[in-house]
Amino acid sequence: MAGLHFLLVPLVAQGHIIPMVDLARLLAGRGARVTVVTTPVNAARNRAVVDSARRAGLDVELAEIAFPGPGHGLPEGLENMDQLTEREHFLPFFQAAWSMDAPLEEYVRSLPRRPDCLIADSCNPWTAEVCARHGIPRLVLHCPSTYFLLAMHSLSKHGVHDRVADELETFEIPDFPVPAVANKATFRGFFQWPGVEGFQRNIAEAEATADGLLLNTFRDIEGVFIDRYAAALGRKTWTIGPMCASVGGLDAHARASRGNRPDVDAGIFVSWLDARPPSSVLYISFGSLAHLPAKQVVELGRGLEASERPFVWAIKEASSNADVQAWLAEGFEDRVKDRGLLVRGWAPQVTILSHPAVGGFLTHCGWNAALEAIAHGVPVLTWPNFSDQFSSERLLVDVLDVGVRSSVKVPAMFLPKEAEGVQVTSAGVEKAVAELMDEGPKGTERRARAKELAAKAKAAMEEGGSSYADLTDMMDHVVVLGRRQ
Ligand code: UDP
Repeated sequence: MAGLHFLLVPLVAQGHIIPMVDLARLLAGRGARVTVVTTPVNAARNRAVVDSARRAGLDVELAEIAFPGPGHGLPEGLENMDQLTEREHFLPFFQAAWSMDAPLEEYVRSLPRRPDCLIADSCNPWTAEVCARHGIPRLVLHCPSTYFLLAMHSLSKHGVHDRVADELETFEIPDFPVPAVANKATFRGFFQWPGVEGFQRNIAEAEATADGLLLNTFRDIEGVFIDRYAAALGRKTWTIGPMCASVGGLDAHARASRGNRPDVDAGIFVSWLDARPPSSVLYISFGSLAHLPAKQVVELGRGLEASERPFVWAIKEASSNADVQAWLAEGFEDRVKDRGLLVRGWAPQVTILSHPAVGGFLTHCGWNAALEAIAHGVPVLTWPNFSDQFSSERLLVDVLDVGVRSSVKVPAMFLPKEAEGVQVTSAGVEKAVAELMDEGPKGTERRARAKELAAKAKAAMEEGGSSYADLTDMMDHVVVLGRRQ
């Protein structure tokens, strides 16, 4: 594979850049030269990982292209979805992301030699024309689960979303390998909202003209969905995950800085966790985007307090929500100081999940979080918020049997006003945490199942494994595509 040059173009969101940088290291590990093309803020966030990979001898680099945000009325430096705090910035943000074709074009023109392949996030359809103009083969990386992709495909093919008027009306997902009753509130595409349907159409068109699709999953957890999805699309598909399983190859500093610099030094987490018994700690994180309503944060905090379990809580709302700050100021941290560690922002997630003291993960079910839990053998307490997260919950709890539900039913925006954003009371949190961390036969069985999946994830990514073989096959295909040019 030496001599192949890949350009990787992630969507500017944490859940998309992080797996793309993992992919860069995997490709470079097979001898390719890889350039991750992203904006200055996002390049800075990922530099520690790329530098570590380079020190290990991998031919990976970052290339910066401008984010056209200011041209769309966005403040300078707003370049990642997790920086979006104002509702009115959402549409301009995606319009700006969709205009990244111009800086990408300029970058491609500046290269001395045409790259052999461009791998674009599925949400970057604007890469298609640049590739077509320059004759660059193009693959598409899907970042959600294949469960979600297949569900969205079937719902769209059968026109279910058009037929069903009410957000909460239930329907059966057609042509689906497992029985699944859903509603529009919890099963909708990334851009299936009024006013942005054009983005969704662009994505479908760019997927249809790509030279193949990459899935960040593995056969042992999603084999039946992968086969159905590949057959339904009739496209060349490679299953190359869980890509997060490759983080073991990073040095400790880079692993802790994956995606961003942590807001509390990783060493503090490690020594705190070192002092705790194996599998005793619950880790709580809602990923990079989801923010809980203040009252729900308080109920969660009270539930954690009542659970009497040790926990590490990545509480973004502590820096973004004045009501949460006021509640914290009333002494929560002091009351739990012997067994609770809070990080008010970015946590070194894989450093935490890979520590043997961690025995449970209260997760928003982002697909990366789900894969990271699986790859590290940690059972989950599922608390989906929006988008594909409800699909991941189904897979984790109903199909893979490694999770317990928190009993969240809908995105907070669909709750009646009088609920004030609360779906899980402190008593509900306490009960669910006790169930997840239970040391009786059920909990033991769940933990064993999680460990079994972790072993399978590792095997899939090692030489001889299914994902390893698919990555090889994908790279061979790129060589063949190159000969056809
Ligand atoms: N992440 C992290 N620290 C945090 C929050 C998130 O390292 O405090 C990482 C997490 O490990 C995952 C990614 O950010 O790799 C988030 O992707 P995911 O699909 O889980 O959720 P999203 O943020 O897209 O909702």
